[in-house]
Amino acid sequence: MLNKNIETFIGCDNDYQEAELVLFGAPFDSTTSFRPGTRFASKAMRGESFGIETYSPYQDKDLEDISVFDGGDLELIFGNTEKVLGQIEEYTSKIVTDGKIPVMIGGEHLVTLGAVRAVAKQYPDLHVVQFDAHADLREDYLGEPLSHATVIHRVWDILGDNRIFQFGIRSGDRSEFAWGKDRVFTNKFNLDGLEEVVEQLKGKPVYLTIDLDVLDPSVFPGTGTPEAGGISFMDLLHGILTASGLNIVACDVNELSPIYDQSGVSTAVACKVLRELLLAINTNQS
Ligand code: MN
Ligand code: MN
Repeated sequence: MLNKNIETFIGCDNDYQEAELVLFGAPFDSTTSFRPGTRFASKAMRGESFGIETYSPYQDKDLEDISVFDGGDLELIFGNTEKVLGQIEEYTSKIVTDGKIPVMIGGEHLVTLGAVRAVAKQYPDLHVVQFDAHADLREDYLGEPLSHATVIHRVWDILGDNRIFQFGIRSGDRSEFAWGKDRVFTNKFNLDGLEEVVEQLKGKPVYLTIDLDVLDPSVFPGTGTPEAGGISFMDLLHGILTASGLNIVACDVNELSPIYDQSGVSTAVACKVLRELLLAINTNQS
């Protein structure tokens, strides 16, 4: 028998029914403040993923041994941000009510809001762990409340105080940091303190959002708002392995903009981050 030509992320070709993890792309970049292009991330990652192995020597685990369904990309209605968030919410909601874990590929960081809306309904005690260069805590961006620069403030609107834990933050308006001071836990510059937070959140449902610009631009130049002074790939890998001690009920990787890195290295890095994330979550669940 011959197989259909369907390109999934490497090793993620299981059926929906049997899958514990559901991967999908949300290729949206309409509110990007500087350089757009994240809409091309998920397709690029699927294509480039065949350049990496399914096996992780770091975790001694293989994507072939876990069960991941790749649902492809959502067909998003560009030009209407609320509708797009609604589409993401609806799709994510289906996955979590089926008892599975959504793993979303952005897209710009605002896509996280759509997913969090769905996940918070299923898990009212939801907490968010964010790896990012940027605080994303603005009340609005040039008067617009829905933006990748406001996304974590919008998440706070849903979850409230002391539910959000940020790491790697090295950019933001003075007022963002001041606003966040008593509302969210912000760890600047690196992932120090993550182990304590994992301990603190033991058993609680967690949404892990990885804005890939947390990585240093020397490792990951393919992003819309590169910010010098970031962490290394090994730092991020260590962070993901540490975060595997959390009860991750949903997660995403976002802000890869493949067109800004002609070498393709950023996409290859993003693929490796996603592989390690998929394998790390599975550890947690099994
Ligand atoms: Mn962000
Ligand atoms: Mn960022």
